[in-house]
Amino acid sequence: MRDDRVEVRKCAGEIADGVAIVSQHVLVAGGGIVGCLTAMELVARGCQVTIVERNVIASQTSGESSWAGAGIVFPLLPWMYSEHVNRLTSYGAASYGAICQRLLNETGIDPQLIVSGFLLLPEFDRAAALAWCEQNQLPAQAVHASAFGVQSLSGEEALWLPTVSQIRPPCLMHALRAWLEQNNVRLLEHTELEPLREIAELREWRTTSGEMLQADQFIVTSGAWSFDLLKQVASKLQVKPMRGQIVLYKPERQLQQVVYREGFYLVPRRDGYLLAGSTLEDVGFDASVTSTVREEICAKAEAIMPDLKGLPVIKHWSGLRPGTPDNLPVIAPHPQVQNLYLNTGHFRYGLTMAPASARLVAAMVCGETPWTDAAPFALPG
Ligand SMILES: Cc1cc2nc3c(=O)[nH]c(=O)nc-3n(C[C@H](O)[C@H](O)[C@H](O)COP(=O)(O)OP(=O)(O)OC[C@H]3O[C@@H](n4cnc5c(N)ncnc54)[C@H](O)[C@@H]3O)c2cc1C
Repeated sequence: MRDDRVEVRKCAGEIADGVAIVSQHVLVAGGGIVGCLTAMELVARGCQVTIVERNVIASQTSGESSWAGAGIVFPLLPWMYSEHVNRLTSYGAASYGAICQRLLNETGIDPQLIVSGFLLLPEFDRAAALAWCEQNQLPAQAVHASAFGVQSLSGEEALWLPTVSQIRPPCLMHALRAWLEQNNVRLLEHTELEPLREIAELREWRTTSGEMLQADQFIVTSGAWSFDLLKQVASKLQVKPMRGQIVLYKPERQLQQVVYREGFYLVPRRDGYLLAGSTLEDVGFDASVTSTVREEICAKAEAIMPDLKGLPVIKHWSGLRPGTPDNLPVIAPHPQVQNLYLNTGHFRYGLTMAPASARLVAAMVCGETPWTDAAPFALPG
């Protein structure tokens, strides 16, 4: 038994020295990117893990955000966010190289992490952007958009950030799912947890079919649905769905880099597809797509890349982000309910932040010293 656990730890590779190897059963509520990476961190610490997912992990059924995202591993305009948000996104972005290599080596599935760079078209706060890049040692260069084959509506120069990367979310989710299965994580799919009732200590959680699921510790990673699940025990948790729609093209001439202008982006994939999006819509749990938004997205895409005009839209989808004030997730033990932890509310940058928040919550559950001060991510009192 002891040897097995040491072996798991060795496999973790990137887990820092001093990680405690703890044998306990942890139930993770929600199988999106946050839940899956949290499970991966827990496995590295010797935990027995069950992920409970009401749909199917690595699929998109009713607006799950992780499948739907654009996969830019960067917080778009980091100078607009707090140091706490940027701490998570920077740590997360720096972690993906090792995670994706490991997933590829061990599952054969490539999450398609590419350093494609990020071209920021005007208008933007140039002074703030340059100051942030300098302070954070992010290479940045003033360029003409035309050199990248795109149109700028302004005479001002664009900003080229060559080290920014992207991932293909459905591939990442498939690789994670395969890795978790290989590492004996129990994936309890088509299983929906009931909202939690007021209690002092959590030992078991009831499903909507009446089954009681027992564990030593419980972590809520239920994305946009987290408040519904927790409102009786965490009435101040501010997580609400924020819909985003994306349109897919297959252009004849492909871009080589992510292009961003005023809340809108184009993301090229390796196999020639091009994503255009997205929106930020406060429409509750409605995960449908609308023709009005499709037209708006197409108009914005064509303004940047006129050769998209007349091309068919190959696919159009939406996802429900777990929206939170200031993009700040909650990564914390519940202050009153023993054995309950939260890792939720990653809003616009959950893919980028997930490796960081997964490691933080796993450290809390296993009684380790966390890699960063967790106080800014506490549940509002
Ligand atoms: C259009 C769009 C573009 C985006 N682009 C980017 C980007 O470029 N970069 C970036 O970093 N981030 C991006 N994001 C944000 C990112 O996708 C999210 O922050 C992240 O996916 C949130 O992950 P999650 O695991 O918390 O949520 P989810 O992926 O939604 O997972 C939560 C899971 O919990 C399950 N669940 C809910 N309730 C229950 C229950 N009662 N019982 C059991 N299971 C339950 C759900 O079925 C779901 O699978 C984008 C999001 C969208 C929508």
